[in-house]
Amino acid sequence: MVDPKTVLQNLEELRALTADEQGAQRLAWSPIWLKARAWFEERLKSLPVEHHYDAAGNRWITLPGKSDKALVIGSHLDSVPNGGWLDGCLGVLAGLEVLTSLANEYNGKAPCTVRLVDWADEEGARFGRSLFGSSAFAGTHTVNADRVRTDRDGTTLEVALRNCGIDVERIGGASREQKNIAAYLELHIEQGPILERRGLPLGVVEGTKGVERHVLTFTGQEAHAGATPMNVRRDALAAAAKLALQIRAIAKKHPDAVSTAGSLKTFPGIATAIVGRCEMTLDQRDLDPHVLTTMLREAREASERFAAEEGCTVDWSRLWGIEPVAFDPHLLELCEQSVKEIAGASHRLPAGALHDAAEVARAGIPSVMMFVQSVRGISHNKIEDTREEHLELAVAAFDRLASKTIDWILAIPSKP
Ligand SMILES: [Zn+2]
Repeated sequence: MVDPKTVLQNLEELRALTADEQGAQRLAWSPIWLKARAWFEERLKSLPVEHHYDAAGNRWITLPGKSDKALVIGSHLDSVPNGGWLDGCLGVLAGLEVLTSLANEYNGKAPCTVRLVDWADEEGARFGRSLFGSSAFAGTHTVNADRVRTDRDGTTLEVALRNCGIDVERIGGASREQKNIAAYLELHIEQGPILERRGLPLGVVEGTKGVERHVLTFTGQEAHAGATPMNVRRDALAAAAKLALQIRAIAKKHPDAVSTAGSLKTFPGIATAIVGRCEMTLDQRDLDPHVLTTMLREAREASERFAAEEGCTVDWSRLWGIEPVAFDPHLLELCEQSVKEIAGASHRLPAGALHDAAEVARAGIPSVMMFVQSVRGISHNKIEDTREEHLELAVAAFDRLASKTIDWILAIPSKP
């Protein structure tokens, strides 16, 4: 049996050790993150487990089982600067409690192998490379492009890794850890308002949304703000502003889609000149790849229409993207049963944020995530919080999901 109070105590202890008045400071590859990892290692001492770091700095803890087939539970100990006390570490510490309870229940040898992973640098807060460790594991890493990334002080990713004992050339070796993994589970705070609005403590994550991220440049004509009549202006901001409103209507046609114009820069950007050039970022997300394609096409068409209306042109350039990842249908079912048994009601929702589970699923491993409600839907902020009784329900439901998944793994016929 898991003891949810132990998880809460550990979360509090980690917070006391790694947060200041501004929030959690477990920035990946920093001394405080290493301190969090050393603290975590202390928690492993009394367990009958093997543990090591892989080539990308992910820590793997293995409880041996009668079957080599492995259930993996994971999340991340790193945080954004001034982050919350639950993002990532809830999943790791709940996983530790599940592992501990299985070790006790089965006297050190579970029915199948059970592994816990603490992914390295999920947040990408320092170098702008999210899901670093899990993408190395999945074989989707982009190390040649990423090695020269620098932080605010000009330190490269390559050097920061070396200081933590990791050789950037070898991170692909992390994919060796994929051997025998039969399923992956991750518990995480929702970081959004949907479960709270529905009055539900827990939810089942259907998958992670795909992202299309672009920068658009509208070009018109800089001209004098006083001497140029309204009907002859070629105002690049006017075209961008129309689009910034239109992308909301485009997204609202689909229940879970989101679309954001997060940055607008005007040139020359002074009070006395019409805007000749306007750069705008667009970030669109949905779980359904067809919806994502449709939203992108509609935004493109609208941008060209508004540019023409304002006597401007528009150019698009893609900043970044990731395809949507749907979680395993059978694990979704087990997750839903577990949530209903512990909390009464459940709800399926897509994750809008990135998560390591998406990389694991991209590696072809059946995966699912469970969400627990976030107070006011706030995260990446020191006021991030979840009610204590909801955290306890989450640990209990996640433990149940782990047991159901072990039964499922053992029932899968072994490949010849
Ligand atoms: Zn997280």
